[in-house]
Amino acid sequence: MLTVFGSVALDTIRTPSRTLRNALGGAATYAAVSASFFERPGLIAVIGHDFPKKYQAILERFVNTRGVVHASGRTFRYDGSYDSTLSSRKTNKTELNVLGGFKPIVPEQYRKSEFVYLANNDPAQNTKIIGEFDRVKFSMCDTIDFWISTKRSDVIKMMGVVDSVVINDEEARLLTKTHNLIKAAKKIMGWGTRFVIIKKGEHGSLLFYDDVVFPSPAFSLENIVDPTGAGDSFAGGMVGYLASRNSTKLSAIREAAIYGNVMGSFAVERYGMAGLVNLKRSQILERFRRYKKMVKF
Ligand code: AMP
Repeated sequence: MLTVFGSVALDTIRTPSRTLRNALGGAATYAAVSASFFERPGLIAVIGHDFPKKYQAILERFVNTRGVVHASGRTFRYDGSYDSTLSSRKTNKTELNVLGGFKPIVPEQYRKSEFVYLANNDPAQNTKIIGEFDRVKFSMCDTIDFWISTKRSDVIKMMGVVDSVVINDEEARLLTKTHNLIKAAKKIMGWGTRFVIIKKGEHGSLLFYDDVVFPSPAFSLENIVDPTGAGDSFAGGMVGYLASRNSTKLSAIREAAIYGNVMGSFAVERYGMAGLVNLKRSQILERFRRYKKMVKF
């Protein structure tokens, strides 16, 4: 079983071609929906009184929502703008709202989860919640510039209690204060995690463990409209695939990184969640096959 914990959001996303307002977003939303194509996850999150019913219906379609708490304040909100190349994003505003004082509880039904993904969220909450599962076999976490700037030592602590860290290149540099990504990954592994996956946007990802680096290119795409949630979809695909195989073997983890790239590629082709919610499993398998052909030499 797989549990995903993290933000569920109302996003304002400004791209050069379109601005989305109050779109369904959040790191846990992207990750859980992405994972659901491999195994239906349990979601733990908090939403406010302003969270639209149609978004709740989307969550219910893809995930178990027993762990979604309805609080009386406003839902977590994120506002970000992309530059004209879509490769760099600026955060305009982060409103924690109900996420601020959230005291997450793991529902009884989820406690036996062997796979746990701690999506972007308050790192102190993430660290606390991982201890509430009975028999975690593989855990993974992510973080974002906001938490690195406001709670760096909690982020480092969180990275010591999980099996793997998935993080994008800019954030890895910001967190470790190191430019070289190999040095950055080694530093993160030194904090206690066994696997580090550094995502490099359109350039794919680097998976590090022991003395090994396993690079994988992104699935090459000509048309990208909105990169929001690509990283979360990557992580959700990875952990969802591992949960569905119930495996933490190195070969499965390497294969999972490829599924991560494939899921990230679907997320960026459409605005907001549209790339994921309209997806069929057969398209994922087809793209995985094409990916295999693409990298064969
Ligand atoms: P990504 O594009 O993969 O970095 O993820 C974007 C998602 O992360 C958006 O849908 C946001 O709602 C969510 N997000 C942005 N900032 C934060 C934050 N400080 N904490 C939790 N989630 C966040």
